[in-house]
Amino acid sequence: MSDDVDYYRIDELLAEEERMTAASVRSFVEREALPLIEDCHSREEFPRQLIPRMGELGLFGAHLKGYGCAGLSAVAYGLICQELEAGDSGLRSMASVQGSLAMYSIWRWGSEEQKRRWLPEMAAGRMIGCFGLTEPDHGSDPGGMETRARRDGSHWVLNGTKRWITNGSIAAVAVVWAKTDDGIRGFLVERGMPGFSAHDIKGKFSLRASITSELVLEDVRVPASSLLPEAQGLAGPFSCLNQARYGIVWGAIGAARTCYLTALRYAQARSQFGRPLASFQLVQAKLVHMLSEITKAQLVAWRLGRLKDAGQVRPEQVSLAKRNNVGQALDIARLARDVLGASGIVNEYPVIRHMLNLETVNTYEGTYDMHTLIIGRDITGLDAIR
Ligand SMILES: Cc1cc2nc3c(=O)[nH]c(=O)nc-3n(C[C@H](O)[C@H](O)[C@H](O)COP(=O)(O)OP(=O)(O)OC[C@H]3O[C@@H](n4cnc5c(N)ncnc54)[C@H](O)[C@@H]3O)c2cc1C
Repeated sequence: MSDDVDYYRIDELLAEEERMTAASVRSFVEREALPLIEDCHSREEFPRQLIPRMGELGLFGAHLKGYGCAGLSAVAYGLICQELEAGDSGLRSMASVQGSLAMYSIWRWGSEEQKRRWLPEMAAGRMIGCFGLTEPDHGSDPGGMETRARRDGSHWVLNGTKRWITNGSIAAVAVVWAKTDDGIRGFLVERGMPGFSAHDIKGKFSLRASITSELVLEDVRVPASSLLPEAQGLAGPFSCLNQARYGIVWGAIGAARTCYLTALRYAQARSQFGRPLASFQLVQAKLVHMLSEITKAQLVAWRLGRLKDAGQVRPEQVSLAKRNNVGQALDIARLARDVLGASGIVNEYPVIRHMLNLETVNTYEGTYDMHTLIIGRDITGLDAIR
């Protein structure tokens, strides 16, 4: 049986290069990542040995141009995210944070010197980056951040705490957003700088095969050249989040696809009351619902990607797709878990791992409800967030 779900022949809408990119990432995930992922999930570790290979395959910052990046179309980048997340949301998160948050921050808002120094190394996976926006007391409302940067001669001095930071403890460079007298600015803080430390958050039930850390900044002195010169205010971090959300739009489809195919095969193979589960109307209704939502999500992602390539995408359109595709993927994962009965709760099948991962995906990069409010504001002209 095919490993794909393509009920509307969306494959025909892709360019040859996009198809080839998806196929090569799928093969990497199946051959090199899946054999490691359950063990990493159970040990709460990211499979770090995959990072150089991911760099070699051009998966980091694949949508960026120049500085050693692959310069692929937005759709090809989306397909990379989809295939990584079909394996595990942790794989896609690692690549998203590296490419869409850390590298994009430098690519979009950095100086020429910063770009030359960091981007080729990060594209190759030799240097890892993280993105510190969220704080213990400021998540959906990052504008309330308490991290401060104070100018001191030729340096800046940073103080504060960032929490829930993907890749935090393995990052050579952290993009840290902080308040200054001049509003919110971004800084490149390097591992090993005095006063800077990263501590992993343990005990997660979700996204276990991903590193999530707390960053502590205590009088960290960074040279003035560490400031991202072009970013002013929340527009800086928000532009990066928009890139990462775009990848999530596609990634969620990958997780949903794995859950749907697992449920379909299971329902065909297992019998109760003398008949395959797949022959019961209620089970068919669940499978059909999953397929319908995956098909709609694919079309939303494809259209969004083409708009992005044409430079016409609006952040609110990304919000709609992130909210829809992740919300539906989470529902699909829960339904698939149900179709598997008791088998749905063990790691013999990937479904519960995806289901738990998707709880995070539904929350980070703007929660489902925050995106509802962003779209609500867009269509009514009335702000219900504050
Ligand atoms: C595994 C993981 C990895 C992450 N990686 C990163 C990272 O790399 N970098 C980074 O900066 N952050 C990261 N995050 C943080 C993530 O972006 C935040 O968790 C997210 O923005 C939500 O913030 P919060 O958890 O503080 O929830 P809160 O903002 O406290 O929200 C809690 C609940 O209240 C609701 N709510 C909040 N405000 C309103 C409102 N105005 N109206 C209605 N409902 C509201 C929310 O929708 C949510 O349901 C990560 C999080 C996780 C779990």
